[in-house]
Amino acid sequence: MILKFISLCSGSSGNCFYLGTSSYGILIDAGIGSRSIRKVLKERGIAIEQILAVFITHDHADHIKGVGGLSKRFSIPVYATELTHRGIDRNYCMTEKIEQRNRRYCRKGETIEVRDFRITPFEVPHDANDNVGYSIELADKRFCIITDIGHVTPLAIEHIKKANYLVLEANYDEEMLRNGPYSPMLKERIVGSRGHLSNREAGECLAEHFSDGLRHVWLCHLSRENNHPELAYKTVEWALKQVGRNVGTDFKLETLKRTTPSEIYEL
Ligand SMILES: [Zn+2]
Ligand SMILES: [Zn+2]
Repeated sequence: MILKFISLCSGSSGNCFYLGTSSYGILIDAGIGSRSIRKVLKERGIAIEQILAVFITHDHADHIKGVGGLSKRFSIPVYATELTHRGIDRNYCMTEKIEQRNRRYCRKGETIEVRDFRITPFEVPHDANDNVGYSIELADKRFCIITDIGHVTPLAIEHIKKANYLVLEANYDEEMLRNGPYSPMLKERIVGSRGHLSNREAGECLAEHFSDGLRHVWLCHLSRENNHPELAYKTVEWALKQVGRNVGTDFKLETLKRTTPSEIYEL
């Protein structure tokens, strides 16, 4: 079975990913409006009616802004942990709430089946009310999304090792952040253990825990102020080269754009 992946947007102005088969799919996060989501999918030959569910990582605005409207307009169930649902309810950005009928609750470590998808949320450290990564199985393929992760944990490594396809945060370049325009408090928040992952940390994590089954890595949630796509790419590529892994031959590496949707990747 072919798995299709699209990054609709990735970063602090909005996050939304599509994963599907030829006839149905799911979204991970909905940090942009439902009209934009519908439009991007339509342009790539996917009808919004094909979306069976939205899975939310955490309750920060850039991951949830559009989810109320989207679930209401198209009757799409929204999966999140109980803490995240509560956080979404309280969030100022939610001009449209998620209706009761569309709420679904998931628990870390418990697998949810949506048609042929098997989706397992797992704990990811970040300064939201709660945060999860998702390990998603379809037939013999395993896809993993980890974003907004303050530091790499043994549990995250476990899921990274099993993944054939991985979306991993590479939020900032350490030097750019240090010398950049952010306030000392914000800088501290970002580098903190419940903040974001740097290019170096993403590279070292991959270099150390690379498995032979890994085919494609997409670096996500790149900061506009404290990162450049080429810099993120080069940093991770260099870290992998140190352990004898060659990008391009061993696996593919790409950075996801902040506001421009990606092509459809057929996996
Ligand atoms: Zn975010
Ligand atoms: Zn966040």
